[in-house]
Amino acid sequence: MDWRTTTIGARHLYIHIPFCHRRCAYCDFNTYANMEDRMAAYVNALCNELRALPRMPTAPAVPAGSHPLMRGDLPPTIFLGGGTPSMLPIDQMAQVLEAAATVVPFAGAEITVECNPGTVLGRDYLRDLRSLGVNRISMGVQSLSDPMLRMLGRIHSAADARASYEDARRVGFDSVNLDFIFGLPGQTADDWQATLAEAVTWDVDHFAIYSLILEESTPLYAQVMGGRWSVPDDDITGQMYEHTMEFLAAQGYHQYEISNWARGTAGVGGLPRHAGLHNVAYWLNADYHAAGAGAHGHVAGQRYVDILGIDDYIAKAGVLNSPIRETTALTAADTLAETMMMGLRLNDGISFAHIVDRCGVDVRQVHAAAIATAQAQGLLEVSDVGLRLTPHGRMFGNQVFGLFV
Ligand code: SF4
Repeated sequence: MDWRTTTIGARHLYIHIPFCHRRCAYCDFNTYANMEDRMAAYVNALCNELRALPRMPTAPAVPAGSHPLMRGDLPPTIFLGGGTPSMLPIDQMAQVLEAAATVVPFAGAEITVECNPGTVLGRDYLRDLRSLGVNRISMGVQSLSDPMLRMLGRIHSAADARASYEDARRVGFDSVNLDFIFGLPGQTADDWQATLAEAVTWDVDHFAIYSLILEESTPLYAQVMGGRWSVPDDDITGQMYEHTMEFLAAQGYHQYEISNWARGTAGVGGLPRHAGLHNVAYWLNADYHAAGAGAHGHVAGQRYVDILGIDDYIAKAGVLNSPIRETTALTAADTLAETMMMGLRLNDGISFAHIVDRCGVDVRQVHAAAIATAQAQGLLEVSDVGLRLTPHGRMFGNQVFGLFV
């Protein structure tokens, strides 16, 4: 079997909305403030790109031994991320979703929109999203401490976040994710524990919880380097992560990925019902389409990235068939490294059969030394079926992933 022909059939679509009210101090995403006057032109260009994408295959073309979720159990997904998708006026959002439906039909699909709590308050926006067919909301809350939210440059308070979350519930969203960050400047282990203890009282379905990464290009990095703030050391952030795993498990949340926890009895593929399936597709290294400035796609052994800047994107994507992508053909080694790095993020790990399907090799032969090293360090468990990180290994994921490059 030639691994290059083993396409899963792209049933997943990422759409990038690169507008924000202002840039948060820690953010290095491809997003721009004060460019709202380009939104209408951007949406037209984006719809052009979406309509030119191939339609989703009716059934995934998957080899027999593949991961159960790859055999068609995993529903199609659409994810609008950013940036701040919830800044789009609702009529423009409707335009985008209508064009997205030409790629991935909505029936049975998970359709997620990222919302900044500061953009949806006091509007009918969430209700309108629901009436457009959106069935999952992901909110960037990040912290429940107002001083920390200000330090991060967020446009909302903790009370705004709660009100927006409750609004999502009130209008009928039954699957809501909240994003949080720990390891913030000045944050103690007690602060983080208090945040988490409060967040679970909201009756949330899903948490995506990340350790702060100080990106060099950001104002927060400069402030920390300049001595204005100090960040907790690795021991403290390790304790915060361990507490998160233990506390959320005790509260009935199932950790299904290094940074993701969900509630609900078993859903597709044995995942919790509220698991974020679009991200699961990434972790299975499935094929997916992408559209929008700076959006990354992965189809049939190639990765591509769309042109980054909003004005450049409008100028090019606004003209049908003009080149807007930089494409990289993946080598067999690239695909194996990516499949390992993504698959090991899942708590259930990655099966040998799935790796064969995706990469055409038996990783036990190609990376015998890497597997033995990680196992000896107590970071990796090996079974007859596959590989997975140990709970301790989840804290050192990058160290393990590096062994497979
Ligand atoms: S709202 Fe999100 S995408 Fe926008 S600047 Fe803040 S962190 Fe970045």
